[in-house]
Amino acid sequence: MRNIYLDHQSTTPVDPVVVEAMRPWFTDHFGNPESEHCFGWEARDAVARAVEQVAALVGSEAGQVILTASATESIQLALVGLAERAGQGHFVTTNIEHPAVLRTLERLQERGFELSVVGVGQDGRVDPSDIAAALRDDTLACSVMAANNEIGTLQPLQEIAVLCHERGVLLHSDAVQVVGHMPVDMQSSGVDLLSLSAHKFYGPKGIGALVLRRQRPRVRLNPQLLGGGQQGGLRSGTIPVPLAVGMGEAASLAIQLMQGEEARLAGLRDLLLAGIREGLDLVRVNGSLEHRLAHNLSVVFTGVESSAILRELPWLGASVASACSARMQETSHVLTAIGLQPEDVHATLRFGLGRTTTREQIDVVIKALIETVQRFREQSPARGRGES
Ligand SMILES: *Cc1c(COP(=O)(O)O)cnc(C)c1O
Repeated sequence: MRNIYLDHQSTTPVDPVVVEAMRPWFTDHFGNPESEHCFGWEARDAVARAVEQVAALVGSEAGQVILTASATESIQLALVGLAERAGQGHFVTTNIEHPAVLRTLERLQERGFELSVVGVGQDGRVDPSDIAAALRDDTLACSVMAANNEIGTLQPLQEIAVLCHERGVLLHSDAVQVVGHMPVDMQSSGVDLLSLSAHKFYGPKGIGALVLRRQRPRVRLNPQLLGGGQQGGLRSGTIPVPLAVGMGEAASLAIQLMQGEEARLAGLRDLLLAGIREGLDLVRVNGSLEHRLAHNLSVVFTGVESSAILRELPWLGASVASACSARMQETSHVLTAIGLQPEDVHATLRFGLGRTTTREQIDVVIKALIETVQRFREQSPARGRGES
C-alpha cells in the first residue's frame, strides 16, 4: 500500500517547480543580499523579486512585506511589536486561534497588557457583534484567524475589519491556512497585519512573512530581532535567499493554480464526505460546511477512537487534531470551543486534501475508513451506537 497524505493543514510538500527555482541560490548564487558587490547584488535582486511575488499573492506591495522564519515569528512580531510600541493596552482575539496567537497574547497579559477572548458558535465562526462588544477605547489590536487549521472554518474578516476600524483598532489575521489556497486581498479585506507561512502553500519550511497594509497611517511595530538592521530594521538577520526565492515561486504557482485547485479539492472533499456517510451512520462534520476551506474535512466517527483508526491504517496521513496539540497530548481547544464532548473530540479525524490528492486515493481512503470503523463498532457495539 502506497502511503496517502491527507494532512495538508499541517504542512505541504514543496512543489518540484519550487525546488528547481531554489537550487541555484544554494550553490552558484550564494551571496549575502547586504553585500555591496556583484554576489550581493544578484542575491538582493532575487529577494526583491520574491517579495514582489509574495505581495502579489495577498494584494499588497513589496515594501509592506517583512520576511520571517515562520508564521509563528510573524505573529510574534505583529502582536508583541504592536504591544511594545504602545507600552500598554488591550487585545481582542477568539478562542479557536492557533497557539502561536493564544500563547503570545497570554504572555503579553503576564506583562501587564489586557486580553479579551471571544468565543465562537457551534459552527466554528465568530459573530462580528461579539468582537465589536469586546472592543474598548484602549484596544490596540484584534487578532482573528482567516481560516481555522483544525476545522477549516472561515471567519467574517471583512465585517470584523469594519467594526475594528470604526473604533480605531488594528486587525491582525493569522491567514496561514488561506494564503495560497483562496484569494486574499489586503486592501478589500481590511486586514492591517497579515501572517503567512510558505510551508503551508507548497513552499519550503523555515520562512514566512508579516505583511502590513498599504494605507496610511503606517502600522508601527517594535522589532523583535535586533542586530544588523536588515529589512528596514524591522527584522534583523541575514535573509535566507533560497528560502525567500522558494516562497516567491510558491506564491506565483499558487496564483496560477489556486482557482482550479480550489474547485477540484472541494469536489474530492465532497466525495470523501459522501462516501463516508454512505457507508457509515453516526458520522458528523465539525464546523460549518458552507464557510470552509475547500480542502478541509473534520469528522466525528461517533464511539470510535480516532487514534485507534490511525493505528489500524498506518499508511494514512490524517490527523487526530492539530499537529501541535497531538504532540502535546492536549485535547483540542478548537473542538472543545465548538461544543464537542471529550469523547467526540477523541473520535475526530481531520482530513486535509492537497495538490497531490487524487480521486483514486479518496476511494481507497473511504473504503478503508468504512471497514475499520465498522469493525471497531462491531467489537464494542454499545459505544458504536453512541450509548456510552
Ligand atoms: C501552521 C500554522 C501556524 C504556524 O506556522 P509556522 O510557519 O509553522 O510557524 C500558525 N497558524 C496557523 C493557522 C497554522 O496552520
